Amino acid sequence: MATPDHRMLSLPESAGRLLLHSCCAPCCADIMNGLSRSQIDYTLLFYNPNIHPAREYALRKDENKRYADKLRIPFVDLDYDTDNWFARVRGLENEPERGVRCTACFDMRFERSALYAAEHGFPVFTSSLGISRWKDLKQVNGCGQRAAARHPDLVYWTFNWRKGGGSQRMVDTAKLEQFYQQEYCGCVYSLRDTNRQRKEKGLQKIRFGVRYYGQDTEA
Ligand code: SF4
Repeated sequence: MATPDHRMLSLPESAGRLLLHSCCAPCCADIMNGLSRSQIDYTLLFYNPNIHPAREYALRKDENKRYADKLRIPFVDLDYDTDNWFARVRGLENEPERGVRCTACFDMRFERSALYAAEHGFPVFTSSLGISRWKDLKQVNGCGQRAAARHPDLVYWTFNWRKGGGSQRMVDTAKLEQFYQQEYCGCVYSLRDTNRQRKEKGLQKIRFGVRYYGQDTEA
């Protein structure tokens, strides 16, 4: 178990409200716990048209909404505009994870988040994407800052959610809440590559909607 988190967080530049872009419940829950404990006024934004297929998208979104409802946090559900996502990453289908396809993917999600923040009076936004050890934090932060720079006075908060035990608490909270456990990053290409790796190890293909944190076996 991770050390309990007693930190009181504060937003950069004494901002009054935060927009938190969320990729999924497991990545987001510990961040939400910290923000709620610190009495920060924040709203959750779910904008992830990268997730494929639609069934997996619905599973991840529903888990995220369930936890937002539990903490009584506003949940904004934006478009599942997959056509735009595929257009954005065209030609990058064979890029590895953490490569330029992921930069394009982050850029798209953060540009939409930044637009929503600017249009709805949020001076700061951030994302749960940076907490995952599978992600390149520098890449995530660079995309966030680039998106924020499109709007005057908007700031991307580069807080390192992994530190202070965040990485372990993220897993502990996912088990405690028995969140749905996704087994690939999200897009059809990460699904393809993960299934390829599983085949090489003699494992069966990913099945959707069967694994939950805190359960030892597949349902
Ligand atoms: S691997 Fe993940 S971050 Fe990269 S393009 Fe696919 S969904 Fe986006």
